[in-house]
Amino acid sequence: MKVLVVDDREENRAILQVKLKAHGYESETAGNGAEALAMLRDRPFVAVIADLLMPVMDGYQLTHAIKSDDRIKDVPVIIYTSTYTDPKDEALARNLGANAYLLKPATDEKFFALLTDTIARAARGELPSLPVSQDEVQRLRDYTARLIHKLEDKIEEVSTLNATLEQRVAAATAELREANAELETYVNTATHDLRAPLRAIEGFSALLREEGERMPAEDRRRLLGRIEASAAQMQRLMQDLLDYSRLKQREIVVEKVALSEVVREALARIGPEIDRSHAVVEVSPRLPDVRGVAPILVQAVANLFSNAIKFVAPGARPKVAVSAERQGETVRLAIRDNGIGIAPDDRPKIFRVFERLHDPTLYPGTGIGLASVKRAVTKMGGDLGFESEPGRGSVFWIELPEA
Ligand code: ADP
Repeated sequence: MKVLVVDDREENRAILQVKLKAHGYESETAGNGAEALAMLRDRPFVAVIADLLMPVMDGYQLTHAIKSDDRIKDVPVIIYTSTYTDPKDEALARNLGANAYLLKPATDEKFFALLTDTIARAARGELPSLPVSQDEVQRLRDYTARLIHKLEDKIEEVSTLNATLEQRVAAATAELREANAELETYVNTATHDLRAPLRAIEGFSALLREEGERMPAEDRRRLLGRIEASAAQMQRLMQDLLDYSRLKQREIVVEKVALSEVVREALARIGPEIDRSHAVVEVSPRLPDVRGVAPILVQAVANLFSNAIKFVAPGARPKVAVSAERQGETVRLAIRDNGIGIAPDDRPKIFRVFERLHDPTLYPGTGIGLASVKRAVTKMGGDLGFESEPGRGSVFWIELPEA
């Protein structure tokens, strides 16, 4: 006493089989009408539940084949479909001999009431047998009409899809153009900044070549020192640029990170700068855990520490205070300094690449640090900001989701 489920989609077959079993029905399945027909001719089934749209042999053809075969025409056919929802679809299916027609998804209650009833009526011989004299030509015509109708629906679907696709291509192209323009500006500024130390090296070397022999040894040493410093600056610039652009490509996985560890490592990384400047660093004893990527966060925090120590008035002793507080679901790590501060007019520039707001001879750097920090924090799903009063210091903060 098995039910035969005919559907071209594996998941539909599996779901239906589980439900049938739960309601006490044994079942077998077939992926299309032809397979089903072979099974029906081979062994007994109490009912066929068939989808309409299937490859090889669809539900209409299957129904017609069952109902025209004397050996199996008494097996009731239930059409269960979500693709053919037009009343004309049902009319055709019934005309071909389908005994019941149900739209997907139907409630289990409705589905099993119909199944039980159909099987019972078939057993009592109550299901109408098809008038075999039916006009075959008319049936074929109806069938073709239904198929064409479906085809038109599919064509419409495809052309809508096409239109959305075209829209998406246009949007992606615009985005690409914008990225390209951004890249161009970036390369222009990069070359400009990279040229400065090169020009210095060229100039000092020429001076040495032309005047070196006449110069006191001390001046020569000073010039060589400046050449070395320019080369070092060039190295820094390239390293920073590389870090900055790698950050963009890098795939990241955020996880739980202890801020206390991050701060400890960042301070260790800039140890020599702290020693040289005799900076006083105060770290609040309890720092919460956040969600982020430890090495990226360490680099970002080290950058902020380095700035906090660097941008102080000449001769002043840097003081840095590190604290963190929970704000709802996020944690804000704050790094406060007693430095020279940032003028309100400069606020919008500060996170741009190569942007440097203070005299570069007093405050060496590359202008890439904060842009990198911004990129890193954004990438980790956080936020970066600052408050500052010129002459009275600044607070830079990083906000990240709490772990
Ligand atoms: P760099 O430190 O290499 O110059 P950054 O991108 O780190 O570059 O910073 C950009 C500019 O922002 C700095 O040149 C400086 O003018 C300003 N700045 C950054 N941090 C501070 C700070 N803590 N106090 C005052 N100015 C700062």
